[in-house]
Amino acid sequence: MSNDLSWDRFGIQTQSIRAGQHRTPENEHSDPIFVTSSYVFDSAAQAQARFSGQEPGNIYSRFTNPTTRTFEERLAIMEGGERCIATASGMAAIMTLAMGLLKAGDHVVCSRAVFGNTVLLFRNYMAKFGVGVDFVALTDLDAWEQAIRPQTRFLFLETPSNPLTEIADIAALAALAHAHDALLVVDNVFCTPALQHPLALGADIVVHSATKYLDGQGRCVGGAIVGPRELLDKEVYPFLRTGGAAMSPFNAWVFLTGLETLNLRMQAHCDNALKLARWLETHPRVERVYYPGLASHPQHDLAAKQQRGGGGIVSFVVKGGQPAAWRVIDNTRLISITANLGDVKTTITHPATTTHGRLSPEERNEAGIDDGLVRISVGLENIEDIIADLERGLNP
Ligand SMILES: *Cc1c(COP(=O)(O)O)cnc(C)c1O
Repeated sequence: MSNDLSWDRFGIQTQSIRAGQHRTPENEHSDPIFVTSSYVFDSAAQAQARFSGQEPGNIYSRFTNPTTRTFEERLAIMEGGERCIATASGMAAIMTLAMGLLKAGDHVVCSRAVFGNTVLLFRNYMAKFGVGVDFVALTDLDAWEQAIRPQTRFLFLETPSNPLTEIADIAALAALAHAHDALLVVDNVFCTPALQHPLALGADIVVHSATKYLDGQGRCVGGAIVGPRELLDKEVYPFLRTGGAAMSPFNAWVFLTGLETLNLRMQAHCDNALKLARWLETHPRVERVYYPGLASHPQHDLAAKQQRGGGGIVSFVVKGGQPAAWRVIDNTRLISITANLGDVKTTITHPATTTHGRLSPEERNEAGIDDGLVRISVGLENIEDIIADLERGLNP
């Protein structure tokens, strides 16, 4: 397989199956796993050339592994980026990016509605090294602008947000960041490149938790950073090499098989989620449904412009508060009660007492996390079976 093809001419279905493969002299058809920590050099001179970077090639699997590299090349092409760095987890991706790009005195503006550990990373850990952070409401463009300082290195967001599926205007925020010499970083976990291309909309860097939809079957933990080659090679890759939060080659191989079916799976997640959201919206015991694919979503038009589908996450408020929400959850027999998402298996969670349980009632109120809120990561089972599983607890 020639990797000199201009992959940007191919559809994402083709890219996700074929890009990044470099066949070995064994002519294997499927991608092999290179289970080796180090590599052999022909001579002392070659070892010197490799270590100094004069000659490209493998050195040590903390930062050079052919299986991991195939995953990196494939995901970079799928995101429309120049360079990808695979990491041990989604949080390792965000940590590696932060350690690579930031120094004491720098500043970050972050959406308030991001993954809980991302908040902790910036607020508790980057702060220890003198990096300032301000959190703003995802959809309030003025708040983003007011929070930017001369020291702001990047803006960071997830869209759609979790669990309320708010949509950020990526193009507008990219323009705002660039007007202030800052970068826009988008966590593209919820849409994946099958549904959304943040780089094409103006974002500079995309981060991923491969643990979610890229794997898609709940097997491995991993992450990735995608962006401009020069920036990542100069500022981020050296930290991965030194800091060591690298992806395991076995996990890279699992994610490669996941990517092959990503587009099909995301379309099916969207179809199932839309059917579920429409059914919930008509249910008399449901107060409100959050799903970007519904016409009733406040940013339905922006979502339709920016995404090729509403995604697989549906949240809804059950009438009757926490007892009613727990009744729905506890009456399921098929759906898994777990906070993980992006799996072929449908999962259900109660944000107010789990992911957002450490917030005070006032903070939860401000974040829009109702006591009756239930979040579903819609899987690929027959959606009628999922609806029947929820109906039981909604109609006690
Ligand atoms: C899960 C998740 C992460 C963290 O990824 P891990 O692989 O669990 O470290 C980051 N961002 C989002 C949006 C996530 O859902």
